[in-house]
Amino acid sequence: MSNMSKSAGAKVPYIVSNIERCMCSQCPVQADSVCAQDKYSRLKNEMESLGEGEAPEPHKVPGVYCSAGTATCSDLDKNRDCICKTCPVWEEHGLENANPIMYFCNSGRAT
Ligand code: SF4
Ligand code: SF4
Repeated sequence: MSNMSKSAGAKVPYIVSNIERCMCSQCPVQADSVCAQDKYSRLKNEMESLGEGEAPEPHKVPGVYCSAGTATCSDLDKNRDCICKTCPVWEEHGLENANPIMYFCNSGRAT
């Protein structure tokens, strides 16, 4: 493994393909979050304004918390069900063996 991924301490890279495949946009935990929904409404334009393969700053993306760490929005309902286990990124990176394994928006990124 490269030193970079070791020093980052994260299992999941913060890259466009993971942002695009993330299921957080469908998650009940964020469904009624005005803050997260507002970020989603701006995200498409934001991504279109960037170059090919360039990822928006993490605070503009209400997802890939497994990579970026806890949500910047504070109005998420963590009592609802996390759907990370339905996500191809979760599967690909073996996050069943990570710490934490779910609710990255609340518990922080997967290591
Ligand atoms: S595992 Fe969860 S936080 Fe990570 S990309 Fe998938 S849905 Fe998003
Ligand atoms: S990390 Fe899990 S609980 Fe949080 S928004 Fe994404 S799918 Fe939902």
